[in-house]
Amino acid sequence: MSTTQNPTVLASGNKGKLKELQLALSGTGLILKPQSEYAVPEAEEDGLTFIENALKKARNAAQHTGYAALADDSGLVVPALGGAPGIHSARYAEGGDAANNAKLLEEMSKLPGADRRAWFVCVLVLVSSPTDPSPLIAEGYWHGSIATDPRGSEGFGYDPLFCIDETGRTAASLTASEKQELSHRGKAVHKLRQQLGYQ
Ligand code: IMP
Repeated sequence: MSTTQNPTVLASGNKGKLKELQLALSGTGLILKPQSEYAVPEAEEDGLTFIENALKKARNAAQHTGYAALADDSGLVVPALGGAPGIHSARYAEGGDAANNAKLLEEMSKLPGADRRAWFVCVLVLVSSPTDPSPLIAEGYWHGSIATDPRGSEGFGYDPLFCIDETGRTAASLTASEKQELSHRGKAVHKLRQQLGYQ
């Protein structure tokens, strides 16, 4: 896959993801550009799984730009809520991160500690073209629990509610490099880097 000269289009408009992925992919030669720079229309995310939606987004960005494309489909899974917000994490409350977090707190308000466990999933898909028969696919998980109130100001999305240990620290209390070390996205990127021949 010739990804060293041409940009690789990130099939997402999420600034938090772009920042984390650019940091985590440094040194690989991949020059990540958001699909908004190429006016790529949003792909329809009608798959039932993270992997299906990641493939759809990557193919859509490659189709509209002619470049290789990287998609990150990720989300938060809470078993006690039947897996919600899951593949609908970005649009859980239809009002952005703050509304999503408020809805999650409300849905979990009566759940005891044992039912507050949760995990983040990240699936990365890299395609060289829209018809690439052999996309690179990498997955990462991050286990934790949902806090009873938001804490921390770093990161994005559900980070202020995602407790990473017993001390109650949330993902939003980590620096960018600490989060990269522990997170679902950091783990998925590590696997993708290995597939690309980097450590
Ligand atoms: P997607 O853009 O359809 O993959 O939706 C991803 C959504 O999952 C984001 O908008 C966030 O709500 C959530 N999410 C994914 N990764 C993270 C993370 O690292 N921290 C916090 N929230 C995340």
